[in-house]
Amino acid sequence: MRSLKPLFDRNKIWSAEKSAEDPEFFTKLVSQQSPDYLWIGCADSRVPANEIVGLPPGELFVHRNVANVVVHTDLNCLSVLQYAVDVLDVEHVIVCGHYGCGGVQAALNNSRLGLIDNWLRHVQDVMKKHRTRLDELPDKASRLHRLCELNVMEQVLNVGQTTIVQSAWDRGKALEIHGWIYDLHDGLLKDLAVCVKSAAEFAEVYQQVAESA
Ligand SMILES: [Zn+2]
Repeated sequence: MRSLKPLFDRNKIWSAEKSAEDPEFFTKLVSQQSPDYLWIGCADSRVPANEIVGLPPGELFVHRNVANVVVHTDLNCLSVLQYAVDVLDVEHVIVCGHYGCGGVQAALNNSRLGLIDNWLRHVQDVMKKHRTRLDELPDKASRLHRLCELNVMEQVLNVGQTTIVQSAWDRGKALEIHGWIYDLHDGLLKDLAVCVKSAAEFAEVYQQVAESA
């Protein structure tokens, strides 16, 4: 007996609905994917990438992990980035975090959750880098709010520092990196204004993030 039957039932309904809306829907998707965007977001179940930006399958290349972290030795994330930039030729990389992120909160609280603590060390690095300004905030809620934003901004820098993006800019490829944050309370995205689209701009944005309070 197949387990998780309700999910298979939902899948059948979804497939039928998609085919009813557009009989060519699956045929078109099978032949190719040509997304314009790479989304690097949190694995949180409340932040479904495609739904938030209203894009159907095929239009958003997605990588998600806990707390939307981009680590220079993470072959998983780097492979997604390289494939998206060099093969799919995307022109926009979106790093999207969200307020109330459990991963960021655990990092802030120095929680002991297990193996994941090692991963969240990267968020703690962000916290330490901005500690002085974070400590000036009045309470824990505002520190969490700000650290969620700062984490996105730092990950934008990490994307921009990869050999993948640096090489793409060197050869003149159009490639913009964006830092956004999603609010679970109203479902709206906010642009954190750290968009960077060239190596020349990168130093400026780096400084801007370093001085962010
Ligand atoms: Zn999260």
